[in-house]
Amino acid sequence: MPTTPDRRGIVLILSSPSGAGKTTLTRMLLQNRELDLTLSISVTTRPRRSSEVDGIHYSFISKSRFEAMRDNGELLEWAEVHGNYYGTPRGPVDEILGEGRDALFDIDYQGTQQVREKMGADTVTVFILPPSMKELRARLERRAEDSREAIERRLENARNEIQRWKQYDYVLVNDDLQRSFDDLLAILRAERQRRPRRLAGIEAFVARLLSE
Ligand code: 5GP
Repeated sequence: MPTTPDRRGIVLILSSPSGAGKTTLTRMLLQNRELDLTLSISVTTRPRRSSEVDGIHYSFISKSRFEAMRDNGELLEWAEVHGNYYGTPRGPVDEILGEGRDALFDIDYQGTQQVREKMGADTVTVFILPPSMKELRARLERRAEDSREAIERRLENARNEIQRWKQYDYVLVNDDLQRSFDDLLAILRAERQRRPRRLAGIEAFVARLLSE
């Protein structure tokens, strides 16, 4: 028999310019099993980096496949970033939330806006800022996964993305990875306790409490 989840699942969105530490923070969140977060795996037309695995970091697809998914309404949101298409398949997200579990999204500000419009109060959005532009450049160069040209494009884009911080519920300056992670945990724990999300579970609990 299907069980009713005791709270609504959260859509936790992390956005930041490339190199601000979002990928590392995402990995830390996912590795913490107790949090039970499930990553929404995006589809993209960007070429795969050598460190990436198809189906784990992204599903790497052709432009024509992407356009077909988009036109068939299979994407919850989509955007063009750095000249490539990125999108969130709708099916897996519906499944995660339907089970009362939380989904983690690593998407840009354009996607965040679309998800917020569609999912409303179920979204919690966090913007991660780098401590300085100098540090952002250093991180992109250390990563050594993009060409010089791509790094310059990402830095240019970062300036544009950073200006979107006001669109987000929470803003973190990632100058200390562990502290940023602790802040994310605090955000998630508090958001999970919000009354509207726990309505069904709390109502049942209070009914039991008052019948004692
Ligand atoms: P990267 O190419 O470095 O993996 O990602 C570039 C940017 O695209 C990042 O800001 C990332 O958050 C964003 N992105 C990744 N997947 C999606 C997606 O499905 N939708 C949207 N809107 N942005 C995405």
